[in-house]
Amino acid sequence: MRAGAELAVDGESEDVAVEGAGAFEVGGPQEQAAGEDVHGCVFAHSRGGYARGGGREGALRCGGTVPEAGRQGRACGWCGWRGLGACVAYERVAGAMFGSAYGDAMGAPTEFLPYAQIVRRFDVPDDAPGAGELPVHGGVAMVTDDTQMALAVADALLAAVEDGHALSAERLTPRLRGRYLAWWQSPDNNRAPGTTCMQACKALARGGAWEAATRRGSKGCGANMRVAPVALLDGVSEADRCGAAQLQSALTHGHPTALAASDLTAAAVHALRVGVAPRDLPGYLRAHVGQQRSVYRGDWLGDELWRGPFASSPEEFIARGWDECAGVLDRLDAALLLGDRRADPCRITGAGWIAEEALATGLLCFLLFPDAPVDALTRAAMTSGDSDSIAALAGAFAGAAYGMAAWPEAWAGVVEYREELERVSAGLAAGTAGSGTGTGTGVAGGAGR
Ligand SMILES: [Mg+2]
Repeated sequence: MRAGAELAVDGESEDVAVEGAGAFEVGGPQEQAAGEDVHGCVFAHSRGGYARGGGREGALRCGGTVPEAGRQGRACGWCGWRGLGACVAYERVAGAMFGSAYGDAMGAPTEFLPYAQIVRRFDVPDDAPGAGELPVHGGVAMVTDDTQMALAVADALLAAVEDGHALSAERLTPRLRGRYLAWWQSPDNNRAPGTTCMQACKALARGGAWEAATRRGSKGCGANMRVAPVALLDGVSEADRCGAAQLQSALTHGHPTALAASDLTAAAVHALRVGVAPRDLPGYLRAHVGQQRSVYRGDWLGDELWRGPFASSPEEFIARGWDECAGVLDRLDAALLLGDRRADPCRITGAGWIAEEALATGLLCFLLFPDAPVDALTRAAMTSGDSDSIAALAGAFAGAAYGMAAWPEAWAGVVEYREELERVSAGLAAGTAGSGTGTGTGVAGGAGR
């Protein structure tokens, strides 16, 4: 953490000037177009906390509904106030990366437990999702394969765009392969990893084309539990974001629904990062499904993956995946209409062992508590299904929407892989590998954690 420089923004002003960023109109984000970048648009640091912004109904204001104990008046740990855009970008990218890790850690103890046992063991009250504490043992909140693989994806992305290279399949594919294999071989890959990932990595390790290694019949949530970094890398076009999100799935999970659900998960994280209001998110995602339904990303996936039992054309292949995503968005709508915060969220949107259900149930938990990220995370962790992945996704959504202010500051001090999470967040927010990003994560880069 670098020390902060002069505070440049007065949170009480409606229009504030920020050095290097020009005039900055606080608020007004509802008009911000989806897909517009966050730089200089959403919210600003201020003396005493955060200025109003982001269309969050005051959620980011000091004393707002988002827990931000200890953050008031704190300088940005990354840019030291030198650039508003970078500052904003880092907060939201880190919010999503850390939020995903927090959810992973919180959901890990409940992943394989029946709901009744979860309610008894964790004393889940009738009217709230639970205590909202990270499980800490020996001073560390341990994460699982979800976070380890998200760091692998982040490192592959940063290596692909190193030295100003544009993101492309040619640059990303070998780097994903290398990071996945480093994870697979790591002694720290002992956190109940998914069968599909393990089998696919074993096949990837033999060499040869990834199309021969991927599990074409698998749409497990390993495909999208790790995809958030794709949505957080700055300066990527929508087409490339879609392609990269699908490719990072395709190396292990080749089912069309795994590809589509990964793309849709990345679309959700990105939309929240750039200021789409949570209440508008289901409609935004439905529009994305409609736009992408017949688009096969051949420039990212090649011309081999679609061939097989699912379809007679690339368009028919990928449409199958998008149609399953549309179906689960219907279930999400039904669950939101019901609005039941007390019952197990998996009842309607699914247990989350498969990718589209993990997306829907993670989204449901976030949208049931749109202004209370810790409650959303707890709700997601206290679920009957794949709790760590559901909560990892819910954490990515809430963090992308609210930044690090969403989370109790003390959590960053105990979460496993803190330094790696900070490092990749800085790189992703900058849109390049940046400084100090060349060594890889402990697990994904094989450095011995
Ligand atoms: Mg896991």
